[in-house]
Amino acid sequence: MTDTLQKFMFENTAVRGELVDVSETWKHVQARREYPAAVKTILGEMLSAAALLSANLKFNGAIVMQIHGDGPLRLLVVECDSDLNMRATAKLADSAVIADDTTLTQLVNQNGSGRFVITLDPKDKLPGQQAYQGIVPLDGESVATVIENYMMRSEQLDTRLWLAADGNVSRGLLLQKLPGEGGIKSASGEEMEPWDRSVMLASTLRTEELLSTDIETVMRRLFWEEDIRIFDPKHPHFLCSCTREKVGSMLKMLGQAEVETALEEMGKLAIDCDFCGQHYEFDPVDCAQLFVSEAPVETLIPASPSKH
Ligand SMILES: [Zn+2]
Repeated sequence: MTDTLQKFMFENTAVRGELVDVSETWKHVQARREYPAAVKTILGEMLSAAALLSANLKFNGAIVMQIHGDGPLRLLVVECDSDLNMRATAKLADSAVIADDTTLTQLVNQNGSGRFVITLDPKDKLPGQQAYQGIVPLDGESVATVIENYMMRSEQLDTRLWLAADGNVSRGLLLQKLPGEGGIKSASGEEMEPWDRSVMLASTLRTEELLSTDIETVMRRLFWEEDIRIFDPKHPHFLCSCTREKVGSMLKMLGQAEVETALEEMGKLAIDCDFCGQHYEFDPVDCAQLFVSEAPVETLIPASPSKH
C-alpha cells in the first residue's frame, strides 16, 4: 500500500482539485505514540491538509503547519516538503485526560489564545532569505475551516477542504479557485459558475464516506458528470529529516553553560526525536566539540590545495 496525492483540473475552468490518501504515512506517525481519539482526528486531518497544501509551494522546501494550543493539547506539528516527505507529532499537556468527543476548540482554543502557524521554509536559502511565517488566531471549529479562513485571508485564495481521519485512515479533498480568473459563463448564462458547482458537488461528501472510501471511488462518485483532467499521481511518505548535526546545533543554541550544567547532572545528554523516535546521545567529548568548532572554517581547512 502506498499513499497517493491525485491532482486534477476541471477542464475549461479556473478550478483545480486534489485528493489525497496518506493513511500509510499516518500509521508511521502513530507507530511511536498512542494518541487519544480526538487528537488522532485533528493530527490526521492536518497530515492530509499539509499534503494537499504542499502543491501551493512555489519553491524547493517545506510547508510546516502548527497549532499552538491553550488547552489539553499544547502543540501539533505537521511538515511536508516538495518531495512529499512527511512527518508529524503532537504534544499533550501534562496529565491531560481527553475524551473522545472533545472538540477542536476545547482541545486547543479554550481561552481563544490558540494560534495557527504556517511556515514556508525554502530548502536552499539565499543569503538573507528567511522562512515565510503566517500566524493567525484559530478561526474555525475544524481543521478544514481554520485552513480555509487562513488561505482566504493570507493568500486571497478561495480554497475548500474536506478532511477525515481516525486511527487507520487520513484522507482529504481540496478545491481551489485559481487567482485572477473569473468563472466561465455558459452560452445561456444560467449555468452555475464552475467554482460553485464543484463546491456543491464536493459538499455532498460526508466524513464517514471519506473515511470508508478510497479516493479513486470518491472522485468517480462526486465528479462523474464533470470533464476532468487527471495528472500523474504522486506518492507522499513518512520521512524524518532529523540528523545528529541538527540536534547538535540545537544544543549549541542552548549555550555552553546550559549544556555543561546538564552534563554535570546526567553524565551525557540523551535526546529522542519527537517525530521518529531516533535516539541521539552526546557525551562530554561530543559536547565539547560542539563549542570548539565555532572557529571559522578557513582556519581549519586550507583555502586552496598547496602546490608540490
Ligand atoms: Zn526524527
